[in-house]
Amino acid sequence: MKRVERATEPPEFTAWRADHPQETWKKFCDECHGEGGIKNQVWHALERAQGGICAYCEMKLQAPLGAEVEHVYLKERCHPAYNYGLDFGNFLAACEGGTKDWLKDESTGRLRSPPPSRKNRHCGSVKGNALWYADPAVASSVDLLFDPRKIPESPCLWRISPRDGSLEPDEVAIEAAGCSVGMAKETVTKLCLNAPVLRDFRLAVITQLDQELLEKGEGDREKEDALRRQMMVEYLGTDTGGDLRPFWTTLRAHLSPQN
Ligand SMILES: [Zn+2]
Repeated sequence: MKRVERATEPPEFTAWRADHPQETWKKFCDECHGEGGIKNQVWHALERAQGGICAYCEMKLQAPLGAEVEHVYLKERCHPAYNYGLDFGNFLAACEGGTKDWLKDESTGRLRSPPPSRKNRHCGSVKGNALWYADPAVASSVDLLFDPRKIPESPCLWRISPRDGSLEPDEVAIEAAGCSVGMAKETVTKLCLNAPVLRDFRLAVITQLDQELLEKGEGDREKEDALRRQMMVEYLGTDTGGDLRPFWTTLRAHLSPQN
């Protein structure tokens, strides 16, 4: 999980909300779906702000099957002065979380929901009605998990196990950043960020990096260090379309373990 910048709300959605202040997210989806629909504009605004990767697990977002508009706080919750379902500030773009059987990953060709699918659920699909994030209508309410929009950009808060691709809180970095190690652990556990499918994807990223370092570095330490710096610039930036590489934090942690 990396820091995610907040997206800009499409004016068409602002206008729809203003005309339907008490309406539900479902009603909005029913009325505004389709290629040129406002729902698509909302999704694209979020997806662009996130560089095309899931806010939680960093898998590539693949519309329309491999992505969804994620309500950080429960969309069904009612508050007289607050419509959680239609608050753009309550949205993130997230992956399908293992709910689409046999969906293939566009960038690698690997299965995103290998059986047993139940064991491979993650991100928004495991949240259900859980209240893990602060109620935006209540000032005293607090997050129980990391919110990708609120964590610091630097330092990197995670390590990736080279043994099995697990995402592990970097306790020293987390404490230095003034964040909670307990909350980091809860984030990984509750959002199932170590589902087997995600560990396998991360492991594949690490294996490929190591192979590249070995081949081009030719066993020379200095050459390898220079290569790492070069790869960090190349792999951690956006491409010409503004996309980030999937599993960005895995690349970051593995290329610069001390960061
Ligand atoms: Zn995800």
